[in-house]
Amino acid sequence: MSDKKVLIIGAGVAGLSAAVALSKNNVKITIIEKSSFTGGHAASFTCKAAEKCVKCGACIAEDKLKKAKADTNIRIFTNSVIKKISAAPPFNAVVKNKAKQFDITCNAVIMATGFTLFNPISKPYGYKKFDNVITNFELEKMIRETNQIQKPTDKKIPNKIAFIQCVGSRDASLNHLWCSKVCCGSAVRIAMLIKSKNPTTEILFFYIDIQNFGKDFTSYYEQAKNNIKMIRAIPADIFQTEQGLLITYFDKKIDKPIEEPVDMAVLSVGITPNKSETAKMLNLKIEDTGFINKPNINEAIKSGIFAAGTALGPMHIEEAAASGASAALGVIKYLGV
Ligand SMILES: Cc1cc2nc3c(=O)[nH]c(=O)nc-3n(C[C@H](O)[C@H](O)[C@H](O)COP(=O)(O)OP(=O)(O)OC[C@H]3O[C@@H](n4cnc5c(N)ncnc54)[C@H](O)[C@@H]3O)c2cc1C
Ligand code: SF4
Ligand code: SF4
Repeated sequence: MSDKKVLIIGAGVAGLSAAVALSKNNVKITIIEKSSFTGGHAASFTCKAAEKCVKCGACIAEDKLKKAKADTNIRIFTNSVIKKISAAPPFNAVVKNKAKQFDITCNAVIMATGFTLFNPISKPYGYKKFDNVITNFELEKMIRETNQIQKPTDKKIPNKIAFIQCVGSRDASLNHLWCSKVCCGSAVRIAMLIKSKNPTTEILFFYIDIQNFGKDFTSYYEQAKNNIKMIRAIPADIFQTEQGLLITYFDKKIDKPIEEPVDMAVLSVGITPNKSETAKMLNLKIEDTGFINKPNINEAIKSGIFAAGTALGPMHIEEAAASGASAALGVIKYLGV
């Protein structure tokens, strides 16, 4: 057993994957997680398999979590945050959780603090105003918890749902010019799952263009196009009427504004940077977008400070896991274990 200790901040896929990889080299790992649960955002995602697996990656998170929890080299503190940390090795940190405050000393740090979901309250889609407008994240949670899709207002299966892509991403008005990379692949898979559960539910899919991830996505997308009405436009507004929701958009093909009634709307909110005080304490560079600038591996190997996962920018679960494993490799080089 080596006497080296590594601190990982964030118990999402990236942090857990880094911990599992590090443990193989017999270092001791402490993970500090600010929320009450482990697994990060992916812990709320549903399996999107209808008849067979559609390679959405959600179970990678469960697998990493199971391995990390069973590993005696890894200890995880939930409901905990770093109050203070030195920016050079050995890293002395003060950790605070509900019960106590305690000190940790470690030889290397991995920042795996992930992302924040975009809050669509400022967009003209009636989020938090109209009950049947929800986010893709809320839809994931609903299906995970109830195994069904229901309108929040009456718990009935919706007859017609609209997915609206790129909410909070690729949006010059917010200066969010990046593509979140995951919301098209996730929404297409979930739309197909809804169709397989409720074949009569009509689905409209408003998009700019489709970004894919995961193996075989092209074939899922070809199937989806036969079952879902794809509309290349981003809606202007959503209104509440007595009959339900009314979506307005401009159809470029016929050069006309269109009003489309639906029962429910799902806003595909994307990945935005997580403003972290810890990143500042560690003197990590922050990009103009707000994501952490990935430390150059040679610099990281000198400083002992590494970063992984969506703290660096949008990525899907498999990429976040690979990014965690790659940060672990850097730490192993740095520690010489
Ligand atoms: C709506 C939506 C759907 C998606 N669907 C898919 C999908 O189907 N398939 C797919 O592959 N990807 C999907 N993704 C992407 C996926 O969520 C990410 O790839 C994955 O969650 C990244 O893991 P992470 O560890 O980098 O970050 P996170 O999941 O954000 O985890 C970071 C962790 O760090 C903790 N943390 C943050 N700050 C601190 C702090 N200061 N101190 C301590 N802890 C802290 C957080 O509480 C969290 O637990 C989706 C994303 C969105 C937004
Ligand atoms: S990859 Fe996605 S669809 Fe396939 S089994 Fe895992 S969670 Fe289900
Ligand atoms: S993945 Fe799709 S929905 Fe998400 S920001 Fe990119 S283009 Fe828009």
